[in-house]
Amino acid sequence: MLRLDKLTRRFGDTTAVHAASLDIPDGQMVGIIGRSGAGKSTLLRLLNRLVDPSEGHITYGDTDVAALKGRELRAWRSDCAMIFQQFNLVGRLDVLTNVLTGRLHEMPPWRAMAQVFTPRERAFAIRALDRLGMAHTALQRAETLSGGQQQRVAIARALVQEPRILLADEPIASLDPLNARIVMDALRDINRRDGITVICNLHTLDTARQYCDRIIGMQAGRIVFDGTPDLLTTQM
Ligand code: ADP
Ligand code: ADP
Repeated sequence: MLRLDKLTRRFGDTTAVHAASLDIPDGQMVGIIGRSGAGKSTLLRLLNRLVDPSEGHITYGDTDVAALKGRELRAWRSDCAMIFQQFNLVGRLDVLTNVLTGRLHEMPPWRAMAQVFTPRERAFAIRALDRLGMAHTALQRAETLSGGQQQRVAIARALVQEPRILLADEPIASLDPLNARIVMDALRDINRRDGITVICNLHTLDTARQYCDRIIGMQAGRIVFDGTPDLLTTQM
């Protein structure tokens, strides 16, 4: 279980996240909704420590996430894989290499620099791509793929980290409806079959309703709704 206790993050005069308290059990699929600037992205970044809290606590089981440093912090970051609206692949590198970079944090720096990967690591990455229906693109440059294909590769890159939690920051905001559905179906499949907790920021309520077990609504840094999709339907 991931527990946020009165988590606050300020940027100067702006309170991006204000006293957020949440318990997220393992295996849940959570959608965070709210307008641009509501604090959704900051909340996700707090969870994997891309951003540090100003106040409050984050714990996962017995681990005090906000206190992690060095190697333990790197291990936590690989426990929480993240995907982004703009996919963040390295366009001129091939798809397989992009996926393999998901494991770079575990490698000695010289191997990461030289991009020397073992056959086992390659096989693992191909399996992750195959699961997303993307194995046939392994040797293509990432920049030659469509947006929906790039996001599936980004999910494969997240999977090779063997995460416990997958954080998705507006994963479908740049995609057309068909690709949005393919990507959301893939996230739900990962959640259901692998039991990985999925926490995704979404800009449309309909998508959250359709895919998530639980919806968290944010407004001006505060959590203003936390419940199941059916509850949201009756209240709004
Ligand atoms: P979103 O699409 O989630 O609203 P933004 O465009 O607000 O994202 O932010 C993109 C990036 O810029 C993020 O890394 C965010 O932390 C950073 N950022 C957002 N607002 C500011 C700001 N006022 N000053 C500096 N950086 C910002
Ligand atoms: P959302 O993801 O819901 O669009 P964000 O978490 O990106 O919201 O932003 C929440 C608020 O915090 C916004 O007012 C944004 O400008 C501000 N903010 C986010 N990141 C930064 C940053 N790095 N520096 C300054 N302000 C930021």
